[in-house]
Amino acid sequence: MDCLETKGMNRRTFIKTGMVGTATALIAAPALADSLQQLAESERPSLPKPLYRTLGRTGLKLSVVGFGAMLTPEPEVIRAAIDQGVNYIDTARVYMGGRNEEIVGRAVRGVRHKVYLATKTRPESSTKADIIRDVETSLRTLGSDHIDVIQLHNLTGKERIFVTETREALALLKKQGKIRFCGVTTHKNEVEVLNALVDDPDPFFDTCLVKYNYKSEPAVAVAIGRAASAGVGIIAMKAMIGGYDTSGLGRITPYQAALKWALQNPKVTAAIPGMKDMAQLREDVAVMGMPFGYADRRRLERYADAIAAFYCNFCGACEAGCPRGVEISTVNRALMYAEGGYRDLSLARATYAELPLSATPASCVDCRGCAARCGNGIDISAKMERARSVLS
Ligand code: SF4
Ligand code: SF4
Repeated sequence: MDCLETKGMNRRTFIKTGMVGTATALIAAPALADSLQQLAESERPSLPKPLYRTLGRTGLKLSVVGFGAMLTPEPEVIRAAIDQGVNYIDTARVYMGGRNEEIVGRAVRGVRHKVYLATKTRPESSTKADIIRDVETSLRTLGSDHIDVIQLHNLTGKERIFVTETREALALLKKQGKIRFCGVTTHKNEVEVLNALVDDPDPFFDTCLVKYNYKSEPAVAVAIGRAASAGVGIIAMKAMIGGYDTSGLGRITPYQAALKWALQNPKVTAAIPGMKDMAQLREDVAVMGMPFGYADRRRLERYADAIAAFYCNFCGACEAGCPRGVEISTVNRALMYAEGGYRDLSLARATYAELPLSATPASCVDCRGCAARCGNGIDISAKMERARSVLS
């Protein structure tokens, strides 16, 4: 992977290559054509030269803005990002029912040597056979002979870090050259997961993709700092704080500010905002090298105020109060996929469907008075009712 290009490219070049690279898709994909039209019509200042940071003990040099491909329907958007110097693409076995890896595979065809590919095993996989099957399937789907970072998906505590069969499978795959580095992902109980990676007596996992944004508890930043100092490569996800519609707040969105906020922490190697189209790509890539300033803080404060009544940070603190074991944090995450910037009802429903029925708001129907309490003031009963009507 030493041949990764790290040369900068100005915005005019980006627009030019993006347009040329998508000429055929303009005919076939109206959504993409719309995006490109917006791109062409927009102002054209130069984009900054991409910045790169080292991903902990892996030694990989990542563009500070990586590509979260979870919601990207067109390979051309990913390809345009690669042309711009973005060199880290994150996908997962389960996104889009398995199709997302196919899209990423098409995007990197012919330029595989320019990017690092990260994907994830299925959340329920833990046996040797499960893990090997997941990785082999991902390799086939991506059309690649190796995965740069394979991640255990969606850890909510430290237990899965220490499963012997999982480690044996990953060690075997590494020996076979099919994977290079191993990591984990977490958006709940992040501090426990990060600390477990550091306290592992036989440090096995090299990276952590962790929910980290302006609304994260200070303890998450402390744990990130500790993990990074121990050599764990840190990648931030969900930096956009749900990406909720901000049209009521005026013309300037808070999303660049949110991304800058995550990247101002030098312990974070990269953030991987989800980018659906060229407009989002342009907005996010432009952030590389921009400082986080006073105006950014004000924008984030206004945005945080606007979403305070319904933004859940998935801390899970309320769940102990529910006598029926409803997984309120996961239900809220699924609802965010439906109603936040993701606007992806199938992802929302798939996330919701991962829960056993008893852990869904189906359990709330005949519950007399919600006993679960949110320290952030969210009306849990109302959220569960909303989730039931939208997702079940
Ligand atoms: S509803 Fe509140 S307490 Fe429950 S997970 Fe969300 S933020 Fe945490
Ligand atoms: S209404 Fe509240 S306490 Fe009752 S089952 Fe639902 S989340 Fe749990």
